[in-house]
Amino acid sequence: MWISGVPVADVGIIFASTDRELKHRGISCFIVDLYGPGVTQNAIETKLGLYCAPTGEIIFEEARLPKDALIGEKNGGFKICMNMLDSTRLSSASRAIGVGAACIEHSTRYANEREQFGRPIGEFQMIQEQIATMVVEHEAAKLLVYRAAWMRDQGMRNTLQVSLAKYFAGEAAVEAANTAVKIFGSYGFSTEYPVERLLRDSKSYQIVEGTSNIQKFIIAGYALGKRKDK
Ligand SMILES: Cc1cc2nc3c(=O)[nH]c(=O)nc-3n(C[C@H](O)[C@H](O)[C@H](O)COP(=O)(O)OP(=O)(O)OC[C@H]3O[C@@H](n4cnc5c(N)ncnc54)[C@H](O)[C@@H]3O)c2cc1C
Repeated sequence: MWISGVPVADVGIIFASTDRELKHRGISCFIVDLYGPGVTQNAIETKLGLYCAPTGEIIFEEARLPKDALIGEKNGGFKICMNMLDSTRLSSASRAIGVGAACIEHSTRYANEREQFGRPIGEFQMIQEQIATMVVEHEAAKLLVYRAAWMRDQGMRNTLQVSLAKYFAGEAAVEAANTAVKIFGSYGFSTEYPVERLLRDSKSYQIVEGTSNIQKFIIAGYALGKRKDK
């Protein structure tokens, strides 16, 4: 369920149990032709946002794969999945800072244009406080994302730094979009302006690639010494 790119994807990277007794150590990774026999893709049409990105379900019924569909070792899928998450989570965090940037751009433009009580609303201190908070959180999110990306470029393990970035950037994007909708007043509630879409889209960043709770679980694990990089 909830697979990005479905129902228009040609191929998928699929993780499946090849030895259930071994639990997560019994997962293998496969490259699968999503138009192959026994494979069906359906769109999920009930999404809150991210209409630009198709999302759907894949159903496998008696699907058979050629031997060379296996990626890596049999039962070696968990490690591949965890390595992948360090990249895909980071890309999700990067997209979240894009939402933050868009919220600041639209909100500052609107705050300079929209006049109430004889002056632009951007001259009201409460609007300034809202914008300042958006900017601070956006800058902090960017630095966390850039640090995790820099570590990746250096070939360093960055699982903790990616979780910090993904958690903070996702939460900051939702906060920024929520504030942007407030700054736009009634037009924040209208599809005439993009901020309602940013709010709907931003919610996905608290979910995809591991929810905010899961990121906090990882962060706390490192802080408490229960997780360590080898
Ligand atoms: C737009 C979109 C695109 C997606 N694309 C993909 C994709 O391409 N590939 C893919 O594999 N998945 C994809 N997903 C799925 C996504 O990764 C999962 O939905 C997400 O990881 C959450 O899992 P879940 O929905 O099963 O939530 P659940 O695990 O059921 O969580 C429900 C709630 O319980 C909380 N929770 C669960 N476990 C714990 C815990 N241990 N501690 C504390 N709280 C917990 C969660 O934080 C959440 O609040 C996509 C989802 C969306 C919305």
